[in-house]
Amino acid sequence: MSTRSAGGSRMTSIVVGGGVAGLTVAWQLARAGHSVTVYEAGEQLGGAVAPQTLAGVRLDAGAEAFATRTPAVRELIDDLGLSDQVVSPTPAPAWLQLPDRAAPLPATGLLGIPADPGAEDVRRLLGDEAAERALEDLHLPMTWRPEDAPSLGEVVRARMGEPVLHRLVSPITSGVHSAAPDDLDVRAAHPKLFTTMLEQGSLARAVALLRAQAPAGSAVQSLRGGMNTLVSALEIQLRTMGARLLLKTPVESLAAVGHAELRADHVVLAVDGPGASRLAAGWLDGTGLDGPGTVGSGPGVSSTPEKDSGAQGSGVALVTLVLHAPDLDGRPRGTGMLVAPSVMHVAAKAMTHVSAKWDWAARALIHQLGPGHHVVRLSYGRITDSADTLGYRSRDEDLLAAAMDDVPQLFGLSRTQLEVLDASVVRWDKALPGAATEQRTQAQALRAALAERRAARAAGEPAFYTVGTWFAGTGLAQVIPDARNVAAQVLGSASS
Ligand SMILES: Cc1cc2nc3c(=O)[nH]c(=O)nc-3n(C[C@H](O)[C@H](O)[C@H](O)COP(=O)(O)OP(=O)(O)OC[C@H]3O[C@@H](n4cnc5c(N)ncnc54)[C@H](O)[C@@H]3O)c2cc1C
Repeated sequence: MSTRSAGGSRMTSIVVGGGVAGLTVAWQLARAGHSVTVYEAGEQLGGAVAPQTLAGVRLDAGAEAFATRTPAVRELIDDLGLSDQVVSPTPAPAWLQLPDRAAPLPATGLLGIPADPGAEDVRRLLGDEAAERALEDLHLPMTWRPEDAPSLGEVVRARMGEPVLHRLVSPITSGVHSAAPDDLDVRAAHPKLFTTMLEQGSLARAVALLRAQAPAGSAVQSLRGGMNTLVSALEIQLRTMGARLLLKTPVESLAAVGHAELRADHVVLAVDGPGASRLAAGWLDGTGLDGPGTVGSGPGVSSTPEKDSGAQGSGVALVTLVLHAPDLDGRPRGTGMLVAPSVMHVAAKAMTHVSAKWDWAARALIHQLGPGHHVVRLSYGRITDSADTLGYRSRDEDLLAAAMDDVPQLFGLSRTQLEVLDASVVRWDKALPGAATEQRTQAQALRAALAERRAARAAGEPAFYTVGTWFAGTGLAQVIPDARNVAAQVLGSASS
């Protein structure tokens, strides 16, 4: 594999965006000997995988775990030498808050879809009539074909009925994917669910099979100290390998990079979909380059943060509270709760009982503050929110007040049973999309256009690639293997 360009100089790669996707590509390329520069708009690397310190305890401010359904994330962790830091969550179920009841999530579901709609824990949440309707899935004829592309909502509604969609699936997709099931491509929600359903002739049987095929052990894992540990390791190793990591450097046009006379063999766009589309436009239509091997011309690396154009529901606000609340020692709601969109008396869409879920966090709290302390994290902002609902754009004080109302309601406690020691509000915008059908189609179209343009580019001209959650889907288990694949493509093209 060559790390030299045709002229004999070292291969140079620019990565725009220092989230996990960008850092993973940068790490692969630097490890293969490329000269790598990462441009990151924010003050720290990691994007949605970020740390925060509350009451003296370092916690995750964004992503907190990775799915283990594929070995992809674990492989990167092993390659980084972090294998002994991998931890599993407490084996307690998460709960579901419905308008009329709260109960543990069914033991054998996938995205809330039950493997056994007749099971007692499913009936408890659905009621008998809806459970009987869901059981019809086992006998209904299969009307879809492999080439169809229905949404998850269409599939669940047709196979199991509206109550399963609203009571079981919707709380999970809106909590995990920030998307209503009707806006979520079934393949983006789970890569194998649709094809397995066609093969099995039943959605329930597909869920049962996929659950059985899942690796033994917990469905998610994390790192001791939180997922932010992964970013710290990537950063340290990148610096050791000599990569340039430029913080507070938003790239608004790649023309500016050329202005600085920085030449690149490869440009990897690890930003959100609209950002990648804008940055690639000049290269795609052939107008943005001022010479072979140079990326663009004119000013463009600017210190002006990107304007936020999202609607109220396009982001999520996380409220983390450190509490003195000995009544929570017994983990009354397992590892946390998902809240159905139809629940009117609670504004949060999900709550994680962080210190019940992660033993490392419980230990850190005891070490720092003593027993009886807890961390809970609530998320606000549904994709369906209007401007006047509590969400991503709400003021900090409103979000904190809502959290103080929601926590006792969700745990079934009175407010006097909780004392808040520290709190934070963290907002995430543009970090969650990537799974909605329309966005996914647009992102795939951009990727295809870049591949076509790469194939036809002139000798010495840089090659553009895209990585990240908008292209790979939501979650580290999607983003990391995709980034590693793209890095392999870059290295493959570098050697050809
Ligand atoms: C609150 C939250 C919780 C999550 N929890 C989980 C979880 O528990 N498990 C899981 O698997 N997944 C989780 N996810 C999803 C997962 O974190 C993301 O899929 C993944 O981290 C996305 O990585 P990325 O690099 O594609 O994007 P990002 O993390 O969004 O990184 C993109 C980076 O690009 C930078 N950037 C953008 N534009 C420019 C520009 N023009 N110039 C320079 N830099 C730019 C941004 O500042 C950012 O740092 C969560 C996401 C969020 C928001």
